Amino acid sequence: MANIIDGKAISAQVKEHVKEEVHQLQAKGVQPGLAVVIVGDDPASRIYVNNKKKACAATDIYSEEYALPASTTQEELLELIHTLNEKPEIHGILVQSPLPKGLDEGLVVEHIDPNKDVDAFHAYNVGKIMQGKYTFLPCTPAGVIELIRSTGVEISGKRCVVIGRSDIVGKPMAMLLLHNNGTVTICHSRTKDLPAVCREADILVSAVGKAHFVTADMVKPGAVVIDVGMNRDENGKLCGDVDFAAVEPIASYITPVPGGVGPMTIAMLLKNTVAAAKLQRGL
Ligand code: NAP
Repeated sequence: MANIIDGKAISAQVKEHVKEEVHQLQAKGVQPGLAVVIVGDDPASRIYVNNKKKACAATDIYSEEYALPASTTQEELLELIHTLNEKPEIHGILVQSPLPKGLDEGLVVEHIDPNKDVDAFHAYNVGKIMQGKYTFLPCTPAGVIELIRSTGVEISGKRCVVIGRSDIVGKPMAMLLLHNNGTVTICHSRTKDLPAVCREADILVSAVGKAHFVTADMVKPGAVVIDVGMNRDENGKLCGDVDFAAVEPIASYITPVPGGVGPMTIAMLLKNTVAAAKLQRGL
């Protein structure tokens, strides 16, 4: 039986720490602020934005929401980004993904001031992550590192396998494991004999986006299994990539979905907003 990694409890600790830091900054006359931009009316995005606003309020971070219609043009969106780049009370800018068709997400990210890029998606910050000299860590992979740390299992020297190579999860995840001295393999849709590669992992991180993708035969006994996936199963219930019931008896530690990686992502966003405020105020 695996130990269940409680992402909710660990994220609550991170938020508590963030709140303390916010109060210390307030005492120095600095109020950390986050702008959240949402374009269109995607219901899932609306939930994510509401959760981010609530998390800001709970940690005394000032937040502003910019809800734009789906008809917003590229120029209008970039104009807003430029305005927020110049706004002193805003230290972090988050543009909720996905944007409606016709808007270029990559271009929008490149227009965000890298010092306000709390998602760490700007090419400048991506480069700094490659070099290991980062100010901001991308929220989801950074949250995963915290969850692994909470187990007490050392990453250094371990065989780590990441399934998925997206710019927002898989690639930065692999880089952070590497910076923690893991021996890292990245798998993707062209990987040959993926189950065999996964079976070598002491630490297995799945970021595929397919329910029941990671089955028991893909997991080495005693492995740490981190499930980044957020999917709906055949009954419409939220689930991860990992076949939890089958893998849990084999793993040493495992994250549930919900209640694993998800809550950590928001906690790390708050942490980045505080880091951005400090950076911009030279603290
Ligand atoms: P993505 O951009 O769709 O990337 C998925 C990756 O999985 C790709 O690299 C793809 O390989 C790989 N893949 C797909 N099918 C595969 C297969 N059959 N065998 C091996 N690899 C396969 O997704 P993402 O944005 O990284 O997100 C991944 C999952 O994490 C989603 O469920 C998403 O909702 C979730 N997520 C959760 C959080 C959170 O806070 N919990 C945050 C972000 C994302 P190719 O590159 O070869 O196509």
